Amino acid sequence: MNQPIFEINALKHAYAGSTVLEIEHLAVQPASIVGLIGPNGSGKSTLLKLLGLIERPTRGQIYFKGRKVGPFSDDARHAISLLPQEPFLMKRSCFENIAYGLRVRGHGPDTVDRVHEALSLVGLSGKDFARRPWYALSGGETQRVALAARLAVKPEVLLLDEPTAGVDAASAQLIKEAALQALRQQGTTLIVASHDWQWLYEICDKIFHLYRGRISGSGRETIIFGPWRKQAAGKWAKTLSDQQMLYVPAPPDPSAAAVIDGLSVCEDGATLSSEDNVLRGIVSRLSLERKTGRVFATILAGDISFTAMLPPQPNRAHPLFPGKTVYFGYRPDQIKWI
Ligand code: ADP
Repeated sequence: MNQPIFEINALKHAYAGSTVLEIEHLAVQPASIVGLIGPNGSGKSTLLKLLGLIERPTRGQIYFKGRKVGPFSDDARHAISLLPQEPFLMKRSCFENIAYGLRVRGHGPDTVDRVHEALSLVGLSGKDFARRPWYALSGGETQRVALAARLAVKPEVLLLDEPTAGVDAASAQLIKEAALQALRQQGTTLIVASHDWQWLYEICDKIFHLYRGRISGSGRETIIFGPWRKQAAGKWAKTLSDQQMLYVPAPPDPSAAAVIDGLSVCEDGATLSSEDNVLRGIVSRLSLERKTGRVFATILAGDISFTAMLPPQPNRAHPLFPGKTVYFGYRPDQIKWI
């Protein structure tokens, strides 16, 4: 394995004394795509800002290509580019916005070509857009110009914070294509926080699921939030909206979140292990994890979406399809709490 392009050790970040991110260890391989998923407030933007060397972690170290780095590491800052969630354009033309990063990095004669090349990567023609002022752009175009400004500098790492949130479908597609092209053409490492987890499953080499500032898994698990209630028989459970009972071992506190991994699925609940807690649901989506070729199913029980990886060999006699009713089981003793 190559030397990681990023390595994080014992990282902790706090705002006003309140810890929002705590990561023991994380390594990112060069020229790979890493996805960050997690609910709002789980620490994705904070992690991207720390990796983008915009902020200094309260504690712990970030290594870039084996070297300890921080907000004043100029070489590393020039090699890493962050597209924040709400990108900011200077009150100038698109050309000036895109050329700025090139000038800061000392580019001269090739600036015009690189600005036009970057605009065309995000599907905007230089002829129409180079002179356009910042205020004459739609939301999707603003996001694409902001991305073009990052692509123009050909960064070694591109950090994308919700790059397609709130933009039109055409812009979202162009943004996705342009990011992948940077990886293909220049080997740019991509680290992407997105709620579009289906896209992340299609493109990522690795996915980290962040929850309350900690990495809680690889994203294939189901996280179920409390409150949990003690039942008459002394068992703990949550009642789903369709009245099915989701049994769990005693939670550390009634509002803890349960992580359920390794669901097994079948058409007939009777064939599941007797140790399983069995629920009935309806397949709402099948998704492909492109790197492994494996398929996972999203199953709706009550109002909760459960995620189950399907066996590598599909059962052709009993195929799953969205709309089909299935049974799925999990082992309550294997639940982890976060
Ligand atoms: P996400 O990107 O997953 O939505 P964030 O990294 O933005 O999460 O936020 C993580 C937590 O840190 C949240 O509780 C948020 O309110 C808090 N937070 C983020 N930025 C600041 C800040 N500048 N000052 C204080 N708290 C912050």
